[in-house]
Amino acid sequence: AMLERIEVVDGRVRAFLTRTAEQALEQARAVDAARARGEDPGILAGVPMALKDNLCTEGVRTTCASRMLAEWIPPYDATVVNRLKKAGAVILGKLNMDEFAMGSSTENSSFFPTRNPWDLERVPGGSSGGSVAAVAAGEAYYTLGSDTGGSIRQPASFCGVVGMKPTYGRVSRYGLVAFASSLDQIGPVTRDVTDCALVLGVIAGHDPLDSTSADVPVPDYRATLWPDIKGLKIGIPREYFGTGIEPEVENVVRRAINKLEELGAVCEETSLPHTEYALPAYYLVAPAEASSNLARYDGVGFGLRVPGRDIVEMYMNTRSQGFGPEVKRRIMLGTYALSSGYYDACYLKALKVRTLILKDFENAFTKYDVLATPTSPTVAFRLGEKAGDPLAMYLSDLCTIPINMAGLPAISLPCGFSQGLPVGLQLIGKAFDEATLLRVAYAFE
Ligand code: GLN
Repeated sequence: AMLERIEVVDGRVRAFLTRTAEQALEQARAVDAARARGEDPGILAGVPMALKDNLCTEGVRTTCASRMLAEWIPPYDATVVNRLKKAGAVILGKLNMDEFAMGSSTENSSFFPTRNPWDLERVPGGSSGGSVAAVAAGEAYYTLGSDTGGSIRQPASFCGVVGMKPTYGRVSRYGLVAFASSLDQIGPVTRDVTDCALVLGVIAGHDPLDSTSADVPVPDYRATLWPDIKGLKIGIPREYFGTGIEPEVENVVRRAINKLEELGAVCEETSLPHTEYALPAYYLVAPAEASSNLARYDGVGFGLRVPGRDIVEMYMNTRSQGFGPEVKRRIMLGTYALSSGYYDACYLKALKVRTLILKDFENAFTKYDVLATPTSPTVAFRLGEKAGDPLAMYLSDLCTIPINMAGLPAISLPCGFSQGLPVGLQLIGKAFDEATLLRVAYAFE
């Protein structure tokens, strides 16, 4: 049924880059066979899902929506893919994204843009636009995305679904094609909070293959779904309201916060004074790491190779033709920030700012259990509206980037509408306390 649904709607939504119908049917049959043998086929058995195309899948091309990797077929599965398969998942294919996850609208895909199912003239957000549009359009029951500065939460907010970025280290990054390694996390995109808890439970946990994966016990997230938040303390950081936020979006989010109060939470205004520096610091740290991570695409190891008269010309041809404009912009920004003479002034300074941002959050969490903000300053914008203006595009992650800089978990929940388009409420939690986030989210939903 889900394959038929994809046939019907994907010509308009364009969430999929690669479909794996044959393998999906095989996986579904294996689930049936396990059940027939009386075995437990796993907690996600038979449920059709799909993956952002920066997650490595053995034998299935993994393009990162880049010409550089258009034909690349990984020889192994990412740890999250492995875990999903063990839990009985049925994988329908690979989903569109901004090239190498750089962007906020999925217009930076080298292949084609994905459209917002609520209004096909608008963007689904990004960079996990395909992952989110697929769930919103009923082309998958859940998907995985990746979030470096908001790429799960911002599109989730634009398309009216649930999206979570777990704590840095909670989910293994092994087999996630790296963008900015100190910020990247994989997370679930789902229709509701219960599904989010289920999927997170499957993908979370220590992995010796990722040296930054944390050895912290994973609770049974389903057992934490308890719609009681009486007495819970929620901080409302004032820097996330006002300038840059559409007034109607702010109103919808403030009404959502009132609802949390009606449910028994104690909401109080607070301050995270370094918030305004998060975006500029991110656009030094993330491109710096990206420029180093993307050095591997040299036409030799894997991916595209465009020949030249000698090796230097081969490098130049490969990288000029393999990468799109936004990726090139990031590589230039990053190598500049890391170059001698600018390293101290740019990169090192940004790292110090990052510490101040983390301290703001640590301080707030001595008083509050969670923080609540808008997920995105606006609702979904029109295709093309910001495509020619990188700064305007960068600003759409104003409310999500500080959380990645601090490595904290956050979830975006649908909380209402503005101009007939979905608005997201962002809840931010203490490190490794996804359980409390899910509990508040569940009570809210
Ligand atoms: N939009 C932000 C960027 O372009 C965040 C992307 C992401 O989270 N992958 O860097």
